[in-house]
Amino acid sequence: MPKFACKCGETLGFGDIPNPIEWLFISDSDFDAISGLVDSESLYCKMNSFLECPSCKRLWIFWNGFDADPLEYVLQKNEQS
Ligand SMILES: [Zn+2]
Repeated sequence: MPKFACKCGETLGFGDIPNPIEWLFISDSDFDAISGLVDSESLYCKMNSFLECPSCKRLWIFWNGFDADPLEYVLQKNEQS
């Protein structure tokens, strides 16, 4: 199963189907270009994926598929007073 280490040390897998830490998304422009009845498999092929680390909540966004390195997005925690 494909996996990599999050910077917090958690191991993130992206081979499970369905994957409980994987989210799918599509841009509004790409979605707007679709009309009529849609086959779920063809819609799936137009979407990108990100993984949410269950430990530190980092998002690892695969903008260019799983063959390219993901970009890291770190949760900004608000200061509590
Ligand atoms: Zn993490």
